Amino acid sequence: MKFCSECGAPVTLRVPPGDTLPRHVCDACRAIHYQNPRMVVGCIVEWADRILLCKRGIEPRYGLWTVPAGFMENGETTFGGAVRETLEEANARVEVGPLYALYNIPHINQVYILFRARLVDPDVSAGAETLEVRLFTEAEIPWEEIAFASIRHALTHYYDDRRQGDYKFHMGTIERAPVKS
Ligand SMILES: [Zn+2]
Repeated sequence: MKFCSECGAPVTLRVPPGDTLPRHVCDACRAIHYQNPRMVVGCIVEWADRILLCKRGIEPRYGLWTVPAGFMENGETTFGGAVRETLEEANARVEVGPLYALYNIPHINQVYILFRARLVDPDVSAGAETLEVRLFTEAEIPWEEIAFASIRHALTHYYDDRRQGDYKFHMGTIERAPVKS
């Protein structure tokens, strides 16, 4: 951040009085511009023994598969955001079930929140940011073409839980992928 969104004056990165971390502080109007992690909300959408995946039509990870999920909007609930993203990306109407996974991803300042959800009807199609939507059986899941580590983790747990007939809540932290040497 270079300029204040309140008044347009330059900002300086410094620790405000009483704070512990550097913030962008406006030199003119004194506004403090906090930057905090963003929430990504989405659904593992079930239809009989299948789940719904979307092939991404936008960067990052264009052309790879993921569950419907996206950034939560102001004024929205977590499950409301998950329903909206699922409708936008897959034209899929769902009934949201239990909270399934929460992943901290500190190196990109995101928190993923995933619910299980039941598809109301199998009439789904690609939304504006999606190339293709498909209902996959476990054997068909394109594990090598899953867009995000968080989603690969969640789906791995999901199928383990399903085999045991017991869906547990999963919380974890996704670390930065090690640099390949
Ligand atoms: Zn300002």
